[in-house]
Amino acid sequence: MPATESLSYFLDRPGGAFTPARGPIPLPGPGEILLRTRRTSVCQSDVVIQRVGLPRIREWPAVILHEVSATVEAVGEGVTKFAPGDLVGLGCDIPCGDRTCIYCGDEGTGDWTSCPNTQATGHEFPGFARSHAVLPDWFVDLGPIVKFPSGFNPDHACQLEPLACTLEGMTRVNNCIENRVVVLIGAGAQSTYALQCARAMGARKIILVNRGAARLDRVLIDFGDDRVVGVRWDDAVVERVFAECRPFNEPHFVMMNAPCREGYELSVKLLGYGTVLDAHAGVKGAGGKPRIAQEVDLNNDIHYKLQCYQATHGSSMHGIRLAHSLLAEGKLPLLDRMTRPDERFRPDQILEAINRAADPDSLKVIIDWD
Ligand SMILES: [Zn+2]
Ligand SMILES: [Zn+2]
Repeated sequence: MPATESLSYFLDRPGGAFTPARGPIPLPGPGEILLRTRRTSVCQSDVVIQRVGLPRIREWPAVILHEVSATVEAVGEGVTKFAPGDLVGLGCDIPCGDRTCIYCGDEGTGDWTSCPNTQATGHEFPGFARSHAVLPDWFVDLGPIVKFPSGFNPDHACQLEPLACTLEGMTRVNNCIENRVVVLIGAGAQSTYALQCARAMGARKIILVNRGAARLDRVLIDFGDDRVVGVRWDDAVVERVFAECRPFNEPHFVMMNAPCREGYELSVKLLGYGTVLDAHAGVKGAGGKPRIAQEVDLNNDIHYKLQCYQATHGSSMHGIRLAHSLLAEGKLPLLDRMTRPDERFRPDQILEAINRAADPDSLKVIIDWD
């Protein structure tokens, strides 16, 4: 039976609870579309927001959650890109809404996160802890929303956004994954997505580095193949990673997915000839973002050794399109293994879902709105 009212869950304050609110189902105006939420998956940033808040969220109570798949329920006048019944996936970073903006507008570069007024779903823009949402025309026309083939699994579509962020990092520099040696530091959700993408993109070898043996083993068993090896992050980690790179002397790509200073200290020790370092995980704590200094020889290391230090923030249409094609073409067949049976929740269990996502053994928690 179709819903007759909409349901939103408001997080009252950092550290607080989710309170449901019912209301009429909104109608899309010209250029707008009405979405019905199908799945939301929980990002580690949602865990942080629920526990301690985020300066970017200025208004409380707040509607959080940004990893979402939804069905288009109705389209406003003039919308041709979508039709009722379409399954869509959404990104988190979105245009600022100013259609004349040089980053986000109709003639813009699409580098939304470079815009001084950048906004994100579940931050400045309301998230998807709600059964229905109307997207404004600029979101529909310019924003990160893509349609999946009919019958596509909404569990997979809701993971578009974390996959897009991973793929932005893996493709900002060309030719560093296919037929190359890839090192992933940390064995959390971001590295597990990167591992699956690297396999799909034809990496020659993938070396997964993690402190804890239990998590490392789980990811190797569930997502590994004969091209994937695990290395424990202990005192001998640098020598053992280099040994695994043979017959090469060094990895071609190092993705730093452990949000800690030690992760960066390790990552720079792994750089050799031609290595690309993707500084994927930022480090921040109660004291803000610490300075993590590194001396770089621009002539010997950068020019002559072709080392590259790079990073991406969030995702643009580039990453969204890549994630969409890997998903839609069935190139990520192990995705369901990210979510164990005890990592699925109902919408009235958002707090339980977030608490489960904070467990050290959790990879991807999904909230099912159907
Ligand atoms: Zn996310
Ligand atoms: Zn802008």
